[in-house]
Amino acid sequence: VRLLMVGDSSCGKTSLVLRFDQNVFSTKFVTTIGVDYRDKMVKVEGVPMRLQLWDTAGQERFRSLTSNFFGRADGFVLAYDISNRPSFDHVVGWMRDIKQRAPPDVDIVLCGNKSDLENDRVVSVEEGKMLADEYNVGFFETSALTGNNVEDMFMSLAAEI
Ligand code: GDP
Ligand code: MG
Repeated sequence: VRLLMVGDSSCGKTSLVLRFDQNVFSTKFVTTIGVDYRDKMVKVEGVPMRLQLWDTAGQERFRSLTSNFFGRADGFVLAYDISNRPSFDHVVGWMRDIKQRAPPDVDIVLCGNKSDLENDRVVSVEEGKMLADEYNVGFFETSALTGNNVEDMFMSLAAEI
């Protein structure tokens, strides 16, 4: 199953993948160039499933490259940063890209990351939830730093698929 990580640069896509795959976190910002890839074996209702995690760069200059991968995705993690308003505002644009380029039956989860930064929060849980409901997609707030909800978020998407 192919899962694509999308969303603005620095919202934590790479960190979410690393937390889920290796249960680690680094404060270093490692710029993702184009598309990174890793495999993760999971079990969904007892059935082994190989998740291919495609981690894309959020920068505009990689857009045409990364969007070529959209058509082959089974699922999307559309991430934003709860302490960064523009990253949330841009969800609409990312969703438009997905609708234009991805298969029509693709599964999507909206993911408000950095939930540990409660003091810097500028996007409320309700706003995130409302937007997800509008698009009829799943919603999680996660923290790649603490690990909160990261596994549940990925596994719910895998189960949906
Ligand atoms: P990407 O560009 O979307 O892949 O973002 P990165 O995973 O590279 O993360 C960007 C920066 O945000 C890095 O400095 C990370 O350490 C930090 N970061 C990522 N996830 C979290 C999180 O859940 N909480 C906090 N506090 N920082 C995070
Ligand atoms: Mg990255």
